Amino acid sequence: MSRHVRLLAPLDLDFLRLPNRIVMGAMHTRLETLDRPVERLAAFYAARARGETGLLLTGGYSPSPEGRIEPDGPLLNDESQLDLHRAVCDAVHHAGGRIALQILHTGRYAKLPECVGPSAIRARINRYTPRALSTEEVWRTIDDFARTTALARAAGYDGVEIMASEGYLINEFAAPATNLRSDEFGGSFDNRARLAVEIVKAVRKAAGDDFMLIYRISSIDLVDGGVPAAETVELARRVQHAGANILNTGIGWHESPVPTIAASVPRAAWAFAIRRVKQAVSIPVIASNRINDPDVAERLLADDVADLVSMARPLLADPDFARKVREGRADEINTCIACNQSCLDGIFAERAATCLVNPRAGREIEFSDAPAARRKRIAVVGAGPAGMAFAINAAERGHQVTLYEAASALGGQLNMARMVPGKSEFNEMLRYFRVRLKRLGVETKLGVRADAESLARGPFDAIVLATGVKPRVPQLRGIGHPKVVSYVDVLSGRKQIGRRVAIIGAGGIGFDVAEFLLGDADESRVPDKFMHAWNVDPAARTGGLHSATIKAKRSPRRAVHMLQRKTDKLGANLGKTTGWILKARLQEAGVKMIAGANYLAIDDAGLHYAVGGEEKVLAVDHVVLCAGQESDRDLFEALRSRGIDAHLIGGADVAAELDTAKAIEQATRLAVEI
Ligand code: NAP
Ligand code: SF4
Repeated sequence: MSRHVRLLAPLDLDFLRLPNRIVMGAMHTRLETLDRPVERLAAFYAARARGETGLLLTGGYSPSPEGRIEPDGPLLNDESQLDLHRAVCDAVHHAGGRIALQILHTGRYAKLPECVGPSAIRARINRYTPRALSTEEVWRTIDDFARTTALARAAGYDGVEIMASEGYLINEFAAPATNLRSDEFGGSFDNRARLAVEIVKAVRKAAGDDFMLIYRISSIDLVDGGVPAAETVELARRVQHAGANILNTGIGWHESPVPTIAASVPRAAWAFAIRRVKQAVSIPVIASNRINDPDVAERLLADDVADLVSMARPLLADPDFARKVREGRADEINTCIACNQSCLDGIFAERAATCLVNPRAGREIEFSDAPAARRKRIAVVGAGPAGMAFAINAAERGHQVTLYEAASALGGQLNMARMVPGKSEFNEMLRYFRVRLKRLGVETKLGVRADAESLARGPFDAIVLATGVKPRVPQLRGIGHPKVVSYVDVLSGRKQIGRRVAIIGAGGIGFDVAEFLLGDADESRVPDKFMHAWNVDPAARTGGLHSATIKAKRSPRRAVHMLQRKTDKLGANLGKTTGWILKARLQEAGVKMIAGANYLAIDDAGLHYAVGGEEKVLAVDHVVLCAGQESDRDLFEALRSRGIDAHLIGGADVAAELDTAKAIEQATRLAVEI
């Protein structure tokens, strides 16, 4: 029997059967901003339907122009917009899937000057102050939800999800902090809950009884003045009574000071808040946030935390997640590592979402799955992310691949990343690569340094070099001093590091090294430790945060200084959705950040540097070099001198932008073409 028996159990609604408990959560993809949007969106959702996902939810569509996420953001308020939706529904149904449309009014989070809310209180993450809706406009907004529901039904959707968490409009009406109204939609709990209840009633009326109505409730707001737990459970009951078939759960508002989905959040950390909702109602409840693994999902169902499990990013990472679980191939799932790099950070940078571990996501129409016309023998040198991704994709197309790695283990730079507190998900990436390489029969030669001569003599039709990078060593007096170590020495545990440390270079790796030297890996593994570190009140007596006065203090194990030559703020280039987490934790640990540093020398006294012409010395035990990397192209040059052409990918090609997402994408594209 499968160990995921609950996850694979069907769920019967009276009018619809879901074949399993796996839901693809709604996610704003911005795919509509790319070329061929209809074809692209249809292919994106159809791939997840073919992968046997129990239920798909679209990204949010606003029921009115002022509720859009941004100018030209998704909107469904008129029949003329139905062509896209019909194409998506047809594609999903043709692939054997089921799909519901999410209706999202973003309220005061809309990046629009005309944004609206319950009261004219600006969100700290938006530069626009909302206009308070009049009572009449609130009733009109309820009608807008009903109209969009009728349109969704006409397009062929199997249901709708009303988005009422994450601090969007309906959540704003429910919370005392953002609702200062004195009409029938403000003040008492009955009044603050009225918008939610009336929307559900209106949507049910517009949809009829044989249409799925999911309501996404905020199970814990994680903001001061959010909805207290006692009101959340009462709201859940009222929403069920008003006509919802399923409750989905959300965690935290977008402006919350607590990370909710980043890799530094323990898996399934929010189960306590979801269980509270589940215990209040008798309709099925969906769990969400930081669930990326079928074993974790199964445990949530076994522990009666929820009846279904929502995964948005994990389905971006692997469209075949559900099918692999059913076929007993869970170890072949390409696991979402919760990095946010290519999905959410991409969206914030106004790009369309894709995925670091799966560059095909959102680009299904750009990649062919066709087998190679001619089976080639290909040598790949370097088993970091680029080399392994190429080997897998090439082998999937039928090529015969031999993968050489000088080290005794697969992984390259991944082996360092996975040592950083909060980055243990990189272990999953390695597991995926390892299992797929084996199942595809890629010949893997570990501990073998491929040289130009043996490659030239080998039987290969093509050679792909993914030889990676070498850490950059700055030219600096005293660079050979015993105090000087590289980030590789630190993260690999090769060197014991003293209590006073200076870090030269403040890119992603400089920040990772600082966290490694200060962090507590348990905070990202043990929910109680995480909640304590981030001041979360699981009882959610107010909005889910303890008062600032009893905030937990971090006791640093080391005194760390980070330096860079640029005069900008340190960490300016870290990911938008995760950089703030790292910066906040390092700040709490008292890390000193020094910009505009001119490095002078390293000697027994420590690191000598100048800022603004003033010379200073940091008395430290170690100076860690995190000064970027340079491409390792020795083998490429050696082959070229023999007149042999090789393909260069990953950091060996461009070290300046050494980036796992780019490396995997470049490798995948080459494998599809070769
Ligand atoms: P990086 O982001 O390019 O940062 C290199 C740092 O070294 C910069 O702070 C730079 O600042 C400094 N530097 C460059 N040349 C130097 C020199 N000759 N002497 C002294 N300092 C020098 O590189 P990285 O930190 O090694 O990260 C590599 C890649 O890994 C990044 O592109 C990133 O995509 C990825 N990564 C990201 C994260 C994350 O976002 N959390 C974490 C890990 C890795 P100055 O030039 O101002 O001194
Ligand atoms: Fe997950 Fe990172 Fe892919 Fe986003 S980019 S889906 S967080 S692996």
